[in-house]
Amino acid sequence: MGQLSLSGVTKNFGPVEVIKGVDLGVADGEFCVFVGPSGCGKSTLLRMIAGLEDVTGGTVALDGRDITDVPPARREIAMVFQSYALYPHLTVRDNMGLALKQAGRPRAEIRAATERAAAMLLLDALLDRRPAELSGGQRQRVAIGRAIVRRPKLFLFDEPLSNLDAALRVQTRIEIAKLHRELGATMVYVTHDQIEAMTLADKIVVLRAGQVEQIGAPMELYNDPDNTFVAGFIGSPQ
Ligand code: ADP
Ligand code: MG
Repeated sequence: MGQLSLSGVTKNFGPVEVIKGVDLGVADGEFCVFVGPSGCGKSTLLRMIAGLEDVTGGTVALDGRDITDVPPARREIAMVFQSYALYPHLTVRDNMGLALKQAGRPRAEIRAATERAAAMLLLDALLDRRPAELSGGQRQRVAIGRAIVRRPKLFLFDEPLSNLDAALRVQTRIEIAKLHRELGATMVYVTHDQIEAMTLADKIVVLRAGQVEQIGAPMELYNDPDNTFVAGFIGSPQ
């Protein structure tokens, strides 16, 4: 299970309201993509779902349980960042297993979970390397692997491909789609790339200045945008 629900979520930084009342449901197993211009609040919204940022108003619920005040480590949510945030002194294996180790899981379980995730991400041969010995694409796969081993109900991705070159972006995008099919987990994915949004999403949420502008399946938004703003992100040329 991994059904996410936001009700009336707001966020103030000092006097400035950057998220202005967001209502949103993401069904169990759904791939939901947030798009919108730089500064519209995509990362802030994701960070509030992860618990990395306090919510000013409203509630965040996972599978019907209010998690608004639950600390990040206890949310069953994993976030993959744009900058891989790997520990440079740890091997791939230890980077991927760290969360389970911190949770006090038995060593055999950590090993099995790490190796299963590594196989899924074609990282088997790299388990004993350190991040400095990996390419950008491999590092990003390790960051995704680290999320997988925790078996979260919900994966959050904040522009995970934006540091990769064009060819790697395509390859990694295909891997993320495959992962979604294999894991059947709920995913919320931020991008400003129209092709990523169109190919990955079951549902696209177009954000504008801290509010939801339109929600729909990719082809709905593409064929029937509510306005030129939505069309500018998803759309057919006007
Ligand atoms: P996006 O990810 O869509 O580019 P962000 O969520 O990063 O947008 O930012 C939304 C707005 O909130 C922006 O105006 C940004 O400047 C502001 N903001 C983000 N984080 C902070 C912060 N820690 N303190 C103050 N303002 C912030
Ligand atoms: Mg952002």
